[in-house]
Amino acid sequence: MAVHAHPDDESSKGAATTARYASEGVEVLVVTCTGGERGDVLNPTFEVPEGHEFESIEGRRAVRRLEMAAAAEALGVQQHWLGFVDSGLPEGDPLPPLPDDAFARVPLEQAAAPLVEAVRRFRPHVITTYDPSGGYPHPDHVYCHTVSMEAWEAAGNPSRYVVEGGAEPWTPLKLYYNHGFSLKRLRAVHEAMEGQGLESPFGDWIESRTAREIPERQVTTLVPAADWFAARDAALIAHASQIDPAGFFFAVPRDVEADVWPWDEYELAATRVPVEEHEDDLFAGIRGTEVAR
Ligand SMILES: [Zn+2]
Repeated sequence: MAVHAHPDDESSKGAATTARYASEGVEVLVVTCTGGERGDVLNPTFEVPEGHEFESIEGRRAVRRLEMAAAAEALGVQQHWLGFVDSGLPEGDPLPPLPDDAFARVPLEQAAAPLVEAVRRFRPHVITTYDPSGGYPHPDHVYCHTVSMEAWEAAGNPSRYVVEGGAEPWTPLKLYYNHGFSLKRLRAVHEAMEGQGLESPFGDWIESRTAREIPERQVTTLVPAADWFAARDAALIAHASQIDPAGFFFAVPRDVEADVWPWDEYELAATRVPVEEHEDDLFAGIRGTEVAR
C-alpha cells in the first residue's frame, strides 16, 4: 500500500517500484488522501479535456480523477481515494490560513479513519508514506505522514477505530518512507550528465541543499526498478495538468539514469519483522515466511 497526498505523487515517488511489484504479481494499492483540487496547472501545453473545466474545485477534482485513472493503468496498480480536499500550498508572508475544507485541518481521528479502514480491507504487508517533514513542505504531505503513522499503529488494534460492520483489524509488517531525491542520487546523475557534456537540472538544487545543510535522511533500501522507469514516465505524463513533458522530470536521459541510479530509494521507518541493515526488497523478511500468510 503506497499512501500519497495528491494524485501525481504516486507517479513521482516510488512509481517504478510499485509498477515492478505489480508486474511481479504483488497486489499494489495506491491510496490518495486528497483529490488534488488546489494544484495549479504546471504544464504549459495542458488542454482541459473535452466536456470538463478546470476552474472550480469540483471541475479540477473530476479532471484529476481522469488523470489518476490513466496513471494507475500505466503503473498496473489499484487506486483508492480517501476523499479529502487538497489544502493547497499556502504562499506569502505571513502565510494565509488553510481553507476550511483543507485535509490538513481535519482532526486526526477523522482524517485517519478512512485509512485505517483501507488498511483493514486491503490487508497490506508493507506500507509506504512520507517522512515527518513530508519530504516537501506541503501541509498535505506532512499530514499524509501523520495519518499514515496513526494507521500503522492503530489498524491492528481491535479497540481503536471501532466501526460497526467494519473490517477486522490488520497489522501491517513494515513501513517505509519514500526518498526519491537523495543528495547522493542527485550528485551521481549530475556528474554523469556533466561527464557527457549535457546540462544537468540538478546543479542549483545540489548547491542550495549543501548550503542550507539540510540533514540527509537515511536510505536503507534500494529497490532495483530501472526496467519500470518507462511505466513511471507514462504515469507522470498521464497527469497532464501537473507534469510538463518538456520539464524537469524528463531532463535526465533515461539511459544515464538507468546506468548510474537504477533504483528507487526508501527508508525503513518501522518494522514488526527482523530485517537486515541494507535491503533491496520492500518485502525482505516477509517473502516466503509464515508471516506472509
Ligand atoms: Zn503532492
